[in-house]
Formats: sequence, C-alpha cells, structure tokens
Amino acid sequence: MPRYDIISIFPDYFAALDISLVGKARAAGLVDIAVHDLRDHAEGVHKSVDDTPYGGGAGMVMSPEPWGRGIDQLSQSSQLHDLVVLTPAGKKFNQKMAQELSECEHLIFACGRYEGIDHRVTQFYMAQSNFRVHEVSIGDYVLNGGEVATLVMLEAIIRLIPGVLGNPDSLVEESHTLIVDGESIVEYPSYTKPASWRDLSVPEVLLSGNHGAIKAYREAEAVKRTKSRE
Ligand code: SAM
Repeated sequence: MPRYDIISIFPDYFAALDISLVGKARAAGLVDIAVHDLRDHAEGVHKSVDDTPYGGGAGMVMSPEPWGRGIDQLSQSSQLHDLVVLTPAGKKFNQKMAQELSECEHLIFACGRYEGIDHRVTQFYMAQSNFRVHEVSIGDYVLNGGEVATLVMLEAIIRLIPGVLGNPDSLVEESHTLIVDGESIVEYPSYTKPASWRDLSVPEVLLSGNHGAIKAYREAEAVKRTKSRE
C-alpha cells in the first residue's frame, strides 16, 4: 500500500482526507496517509519555524532545521522516498505527473508557508541517493501555503490507485488522459435526464442509440472544447 506523509504547520487542513473517495480509500486500506506537525520538530519555547531572509526582503523564510529533522524521521527505511516540495516556482502539476506519482510507494509532501522553505532543504535531499525531489506548483498563482496544493495533488493521485474508483472505466475517457499530438484533450460535455431542461435539449444524437454516431459526435465535441481553452 502506498504511504503518504504530509508535513505542515496546519495539520487541521487535512481533515478533508477523511471524506468521500479518499476517506473510503484510507478506510479500505488502499492508501496510508499520515499528517505531521512541523512544530514537533522545532526547538525553543516559541517552537519557531521561520526566520528573516538572508539578503533582506519582505516576509519570513522557513528554517531548514525543523524540515530536516521532520523529513529524516519519515525516511528511516532503506526504500526510495519521493519528496514533493510545494512551491509556485515548481514544475506545473498535471495528469501525467499525477499518474507517475500514483506509482510511487512513499511520498512526503512539504507544505511551505510564509516566503517558502530555505532552498537548502531541496538541495540536501536532491543529493541523497534514496530520494527523488519534485518541486511542484499547482498553477501560476500564489497561495498562502502548500496545504491546499497538497490536497489537490493527493486527490488527483489517489483516484488513480487501482481499487479506489468503483468503476475504473471512469478513468479511461477522462479529460487530460488522452494525449493527441502532445496535447491533452478534455472530455466532451455530459448530459443526464431529463432530456429537456429550461428549454435546453440534450443533443439529438445522444438519444439515437447509434453508438458510432455518438462516438464521432463526442470526439468532435472534445476537440472543439479543447481548442476553445487556448
Ligand atoms: N515567496 C514565494 C514565491 O514568490 O514563490 C511564495 C510563497 S507562498 C506565499 C507560501 C507557500 O505556499 C509556498 O512555500 C508553497 O508551499 C505554497 N504555494 C503557494 N502557491 C503555490 C502554488 N501555486 N503551488 C504550490 N504551492 C504553492
């Protein structure tokens, strides 16, 4: 079973991991998730985890020591560990990355706050042979912390783990799963009953029972929708 460790100064954010499909996956023993408070690895009366930036500038930077102690404690085994450092400066998260990370046995998520984590944490673990380090951004905008970004990543990763989705066929035609000419294609629009709602009717072809025509219609709609996002 894959193991996901999360380090954050706000462990309460992760209550959402007990809900819905992820909560069920945990209860069914398909994934093992543990949340750790970075402050447990901080020292001194104030349990401080940040300090002023070298070179000056606004805000505070997260100190490397508590991160080092926290990550070391979670990587005692000889297995390979994948460390995900959340940062808006990282590689953009996408479905391909979700698929690759869903095949990893042990992920550690480092949720930054303030102006981010001292860069030597990334450098140190990149140099360790039992670590792969991924600096990941969930998009070109700035959040207050890595907690929400970790929740986004975990939801996308966990639904790809065999047994998590009741119907694995759901994954086959999904948006961003099909790649054409290096571009990910989004899914065609979906409809359910009633056939008419507020003067809007479901496209005739979907009621026709003609599987070939439905497939062709859906492919054309998927391409149209993909192009409209550019
Ligand atoms: N000073 C940093 C910069 O300009 O790149 C932004 C730091 S941000 C306020 C605090 C933390 O939120 C980051 O260390 C990171 O963990 C998280 N974060 C913010 N935006 C993110 C994004 N788009 N993707 C992933 N993590 C993000």
